[in-house]
Amino acid sequence: MDLGIRGKRALVTAASKGLGRGCAEALAAAGVDLVINARGAEALEATAAAIRAAHGVRVTAVAGDITEEGGRAAVLAAAGEVDILVTNAGGPPPGLWSDWSREDFIRALDANMLTPIALMQWALPGMIAQGWGRVVNITSQSVKAPIPQLGLSNAARAGLTGFVAGTARQVAPQGVTINNLLPGIHATDRAVSLDSGVSKAKGISIEAAAAERMATIPARRYGTAAEFGATCAFLCSTHAGFIVGQNILLDGGAMNATL
Ligand code: NAP
Repeated sequence: MDLGIRGKRALVTAASKGLGRGCAEALAAAGVDLVINARGAEALEATAAAIRAAHGVRVTAVAGDITEEGGRAAVLAAAGEVDILVTNAGGPPPGLWSDWSREDFIRALDANMLTPIALMQWALPGMIAQGWGRVVNITSQSVKAPIPQLGLSNAARAGLTGFVAGTARQVAPQGVTINNLLPGIHATDRAVSLDSGVSKAKGISIEAAAAERMATIPARRYGTAAEFGATCAFLCSTHAGFIVGQNILLDGGAMNATL
């Protein structure tokens, strides 16, 4: 299917690896020029080179912490105006509800709520002015079904979800859609780090921890960054203009719910 977005320009943050990279690759495959970001310059440059070679699109790589004002300013200065914005950042650390201080909450809110909001506030005026735009926020299944050890993520992403629910309906009349993609467990470094935590806590191997988790997923496996990216690219396509303010769960059926 032609996604109808060849020649458009996208900013994908936190995109040197994992789900962000999956989204960047799928957009590049659809002919979209990219600005990509991550903190580590080496992995970021390698990803940019691989995407250029595979898809022949323009890729600008800007290293920096997207959750800090200075890093974000450098990314946005390099990005200029964009047609498509995919927001992403690392997830907060696991722990217990009783562990976290006010500073821990502020850090999580900054990374997983206020940063995507700042990126949308930056991108939306240009999209509205041209009468077309697509925003996809990478959030988490924890928005629909809380993950006990990820209370910081549950809290911060719920705040972002509330902001998007209202804002998506305010910008839709101008041809701009905002939607959230909610990953269940996907085979990325983040999954390895979550499985390592379980492995240490239970005294079992990482493989055994992963196998235990896969047994709880109806699809009996982890998702892939390529599958996730394909869904993101579709949401950014010309075909998805009637999908507004949705929270789309990609979890292999893990959340047991009728709706
Ligand atoms: P990942 O494989 O660890 O990749 C994270 C990417 O983000 C890397 O490119 C990393 O590069 C970059 N990054 C992290 N923090 C950054 C920052 N502050 N500024 C700029 N770039 C940053 O993680 P993932 O699995 O793709 O997860 C992406 C998001 O989805 C996270 O928020 C995660 O919590 C959420 N999620 C993932 C899963 C899953 O199963 N994978 C499930 C639910 C939710 P640098 O380290 O070099 O910056």
